[in-house]
Amino acid sequence: MQRPLPWFWIVLAAVLLLAPIPAGRLLLDVLGGITLTILLLPLLLGAAGFLAWQVLQRRMRTCAVCGFSAIGLDQCPACGSPYEQQASSPADRQVPSAGLEIDARDVTIDVEVVNDRD
Ligand SMILES: [Zn+2]
Repeated sequence: MQRPLPWFWIVLAAVLLLAPIPAGRLLLDVLGGITLTILLLPLLLGAAGFLAWQVLQRRMRTCAVCGFSAIGLDQCPACGSPYEQQASSPADRQVPSAGLEIDARDVTIDVEVVNDRD
């Protein structure tokens, strides 16, 4: 047994969507907003998740002794060695610490000229 088509609701929706009345425009705007939200929500959630993961990774510290990773601790929870003199990521470890860094303006470079032809 087939249900009869709800012509009343179809005609009402068509009038609301097609007739140039404020209610029709409002309905179209609401539908457009809902559709846009549904389409863009995965992208927004993905971007937010990516940013959160980046922040989390930046704060994560890896123990130099045992390799255990933790966030917000001064000591490794696995082996007890202190975290404070370690860089937070492998890229930061290659940069020398501020105490060993020499400012190029304070340094004089002596160049000796050597004549190889003699
Ligand atoms: Zn450790």
